[in-house]
Amino acid sequence: MTDTIAPPVAQTSLPVPSALPAPEPLVQRRLLQTQIPGPRSVELQRRREAEVSGGFGVTLPVFVEQASGAIVLDVDGNQLIDLASGIAVTSVGASAPEVVAAVAEQAARFTHTCFMVTEYDGFVDVAAALNRLTPGDHEKRTALFTTGAEAVENAIKIARTATGREAVVVLDHAYHGRTLLTMTMTAKHVPYKAGFGPYAPEVYRAPMAYPFRAPGGPERATEDALARLEEIVLTQIGADRVAAIVAEPIQGEGGFIVPSPGFLPGVAEFARRHGIVFIADEIQTGFGRTGRMFASEHEGIVPDLITTAKALAGGMPLSAVTGRAELMNAVPPGSIGGTYAGNPVACAAALAAIEIIERDDLAGRARDIEHQVLPRLQALAAQTGIIGDVRGRGAMLAMELVKPGTTEPDAAAAKAIAAHCHAEGVITLVCGTFSNVIRLLPPLVIEPELLADALDVIEQAVREHAVQSAEAGA
Ligand SMILES: *Cc1c(COP(=O)(O)O)cnc(C)c1O
Repeated sequence: MTDTIAPPVAQTSLPVPSALPAPEPLVQRRLLQTQIPGPRSVELQRRREAEVSGGFGVTLPVFVEQASGAIVLDVDGNQLIDLASGIAVTSVGASAPEVVAAVAEQAARFTHTCFMVTEYDGFVDVAAALNRLTPGDHEKRTALFTTGAEAVENAIKIARTATGREAVVVLDHAYHGRTLLTMTMTAKHVPYKAGFGPYAPEVYRAPMAYPFRAPGGPERATEDALARLEEIVLTQIGADRVAAIVAEPIQGEGGFIVPSPGFLPGVAEFARRHGIVFIADEIQTGFGRTGRMFASEHEGIVPDLITTAKALAGGMPLSAVTGRAELMNAVPPGSIGGTYAGNPVACAAALAAIEIIERDDLAGRARDIEHQVLPRLQALAAQTGIIGDVRGRGAMLAMELVKPGTTEPDAAAAKAIAAHCHAEGVITLVCGTFSNVIRLLPPLVIEPELLADALDVIEQAVREHAVQSAEAGA
């Protein structure tokens, strides 16, 4: 008699699905079943507070069950309209079917090898797509990473190596991330920097041409900001010490500030004249968000290096630095990279997301969104007197709240209006150096009817707040 070898016993308690569970896509409609947050979210929030670091903030303490397109379904059965896109990430819509399929297919083949150990073509395909899509027809190379902050850090490393210089110039109201270097490059003290010093050395700050708050008025904003930049670089730092000037073509966290016309071309030209690498941080503005594939294109800027992340991979973590081949190749082999840099599942998601963005002309959709939203916000500003500025491009739009009839920032108004929207099932975000800007970042695939419903809620919230503040002031 021969002993039979017992089959190995599965050691896992996790089910091995025979087919992927695929819930039906959500109907693109707002639906409130409970208060927001509902009872189950409140319960889960208590658990979160007992388990998760208090250092994480939250815009809306609602726990998510499922999301598709521009709708988020919470654990209490409420359907919320998403005007945040997880901070400009799900431009192709939440759980876009092509992205989900690409992720599942790639995950089933292999989830990870580390590109620095053995290679895969998805990484090269994403690099090729970025080399093709980013502004300029010069020879380019791309390096992939995981987070936006990592892309910015690496862009600085590359610029420093390529120029042999150390100083980095950034702008007022800038946001570049939360790592030590990128936090230093970020302007706002609370909550991004306070308590986290000492900061990285050799980071200098110049003014932003911020039309609404330009000391000499909007018509002088470009000229004045450029003059100050030149003065700071030439007289305080020394142009031959400056490796890079970094600018967001439209500032994100800092308040959706669109620089006054001519400022970005002026910065790029100044950088070129002094052998300084001009880096456009398009992490928030990229991939159709502003109505062009990249926001640099609105003023015909060709950055030397461009950083991308957020919408790049439809919700998977992936970031990139793309730029002039001679700069990108200045860093020696082995000097940049990362264990997860350009993860194959994230690359598969990116290829699917980029295909959707191009195939469905989502930049064109962003322009349609601008045409639908901007006139309504402008009318609201004229009627209520508490909106000092309405601005943005494409589907990156914002209103800056002020004390009636002044330019004095009103953070309390922004907070109250956002809270009203949340209670009505519309996810809006507040941003800005003075925390007084409500920003709208819908998925670019949002249906016009759904967006109109969200705008009705926002209008109602602003009008009610205007009446209240008028009564309080009277
Ligand atoms: C979000 C953002 C970053 C940081 O990206 P993370 O992925 O959060 O590290 C950097 N720059 C800009 C302009 C951003 O909007």
